[in-house]
Amino acid sequence: MATDYYAVLGVQRDASQDEIKKAFRRLARELHPDVNPDPKTQERFKEINTAYEVLSDPQKKQMYDLGGDPMGGAAGQAGFGGNFGNFSDIMDAFFGTAAQRGPKSRTRRGQDAMIRLEIDLKEATFGTTKEIQVDTATICKTCDGEGAAPGTSAQTCDMCRGRGEVSQVTRSFLGQVMTSRPCPQCQGFGTVVPTPCPECAGDGRVRSRRTLTVKIPAGVDNGTRIQLAGEGEVGPGGGPPGDLFVEIREKPHEMFQRRGDDLHCTVTVPMTAAALGTQVPLETLDGMQEVDIRPGTQSGQSIPLHGHGVTHLRGNGRGDLIVHVEVQTPLKLDTEQEELLRKLAELRGEERPSGQFQPGQQGLFSRLKDAFNGR
Ligand SMILES: [Zn+2]
Ligand SMILES: [Zn+2]
Repeated sequence: MATDYYAVLGVQRDASQDEIKKAFRRLARELHPDVNPDPKTQERFKEINTAYEVLSDPQKKQMYDLGGDPMGGAAGQAGFGGNFGNFSDIMDAFFGTAAQRGPKSRTRRGQDAMIRLEIDLKEATFGTTKEIQVDTATICKTCDGEGAAPGTSAQTCDMCRGRGEVSQVTRSFLGQVMTSRPCPQCQGFGTVVPTPCPECAGDGRVRSRRTLTVKIPAGVDNGTRIQLAGEGEVGPGGGPPGDLFVEIREKPHEMFQRRGDDLHCTVTVPMTAAALGTQVPLETLDGMQEVDIRPGTQSGQSIPLHGHGVTHLRGNGRGDLIVHVEVQTPLKLDTEQEELLRKLAELRGEERPSGQFQPGQQGLFSRLKDAFNGR
């Protein structure tokens, strides 16, 4: 099985040593077991180590370029677990001997970030694309995330010799006790950066403002979070970035109230129109619609306009727009109107209606009281 070491590192076949080194460093930061303990990632980490071991060594590289396999077909096995000799400078500079127990990596995954985005009902219904400004830590371009000033590099810590911890023998009543503690000079990293990058003060990242384009799918609601992978904070030491979450805030609509994917509104019609029937124009999210008020419509009745609500976020179709009707009784009547109404009431035999009472809260309350009193 011949592995394409160039492809593993993502470099061209004519890449310079410097480019190979840079590509390796970038990948190593991203895939280091301290950052990314996932077994698949560790497998990939071994791969890039093997690829780098071959391509960074002029002899091995030549052999490989001529079609041989300097790793003896054992790619993926060799190159890790002991033989760091060929690129110990790199390993020391970055992780010391971090493959086992030892110094901790300077590189850590960045944190997730969150930003709120306000949209209106129409945008929530049909989806939209928005430009947002985000302030996050991004990789420092001056030092490429390494934290060392250009032209310098991290050095193996001389106090702990790159181990990241120092041991101390103390005497106690139990005899001699050996204790280990993180190296105070390098804070356990195993390396020191003698000349920190002036741009990021050695952190490997800087804060910067970016503009991102976010696609908002149709059907989002208040509180919906859209995850943008890798757009969060870059980690310390130029570590891989966290994710960015965009939380949706929906501005209240002046006419429609949203409940789930249905919209509700109220239309007021005069008593005569409710009795005779009419059509009322309504500006919906899809444009003008005629709401059909049937003859004999009662106050409180609702008229659904199917498919004129908000798009379902998962699945097809849309909710409904529900128009609640409120019938208005005329407040003031002139003489002629009053006469006409009296005439109508007479015709309908409604001059002295007995009314139809229904049990309301009061009825329920007295029944409860009866129950308490054992009646
Ligand atoms: Zn820097
Ligand atoms: Zn140290």
